[in-house]
Amino acid sequence: MVFYNDNALKSFLSDKTKNKAVIYDVKFYNKLIENPEILDKIHEGKCIIELHDKKLTASLSQKQFSNPFFQVDKKSFPNGIQRVKFQLDATLKKNYSSQNVIGFVEGSSKSDSVIIISAHYDHLGTMGKKVYFPGANDNASGVSMLLELVKYYSQKENTPKFTIVFMAFGAEEIGLIGSRFFTENPLFPLKKIKFMINLDLLGTGDDGMTVVNATLHPEEYNKLLEINETLKLLPAIKRRGPAANSDHFYFSEKGVPAFFFYTLGGISAYHDVMDRPETLPLTKFKEVFSLITNFVKKI
Ligand SMILES: [Zn+2]
Repeated sequence: MVFYNDNALKSFLSDKTKNKAVIYDVKFYNKLIENPEILDKIHEGKCIIELHDKKLTASLSQKQFSNPFFQVDKKSFPNGIQRVKFQLDATLKKNYSSQNVIGFVEGSSKSDSVIIISAHYDHLGTMGKKVYFPGANDNASGVSMLLELVKYYSQKENTPKFTIVFMAFGAEEIGLIGSRFFTENPLFPLKKIKFMINLDLLGTGDDGMTVVNATLHPEEYNKLLEINETLKLLPAIKRRGPAANSDHFYFSEKGVPAFFFYTLGGISAYHDVMDRPETLPLTKFKEVFSLITNFVKKI
């Protein structure tokens, strides 16, 4: 077993990592990846252990490492060398299929332009038999909002002007696969999309909300601010530029005007087992609902 920290990087390069466990502090990771030689050396190790100070955050990958890779909370990792037994049984399922679930509510106008409201319904699944990631905020909250909106617009008195297409995307967490698939195999020309509203992480709101792509569409962003000012819904609506952080991304890349909304504040659970319905506050859920329905009227 080899133990490396910042001071020992040089000796690391002259040492052999084959058949050894490589342990490093994630604080130094950026420094490590600057040098491909170091990265190769890490991946030659029989097993890789990355020590974290902050909370552990899970994610999925489309690739499988050939060697076991562990992220470990530094507090539970004793100093010095320790024998640990762990059975890891991981198989990458290639060509696994997922589904997008799509429906629509017909609008009252004769226009064939549509508005898209979307939310991904997948999350991180399980790890072994005992660890389960419920994904209450990410993204049962967005799917709940989408279903509330489906219910609302299905009522005759709330018929929207433009047809609204509701899209629940699969395989977002592993790299926006469901939404990318739709943009590459659209059911109708993407040019018909007047605007897209993507919902992901809507379970809080104590500190307001962020709008990704706000800088691309200042006119629409100002409409959100106006509605919020008039109806006094959220403490803040922050603006942000483009980001490849949810299902709006590939639509944006293809020229579809799109916003991604996520709420701010409240809980810190994210991509971990603590993201549970019992502790999700849904602080501004009604207010965000009201913001969306009012915004749709003004698009
Ligand atoms: Zn998400």
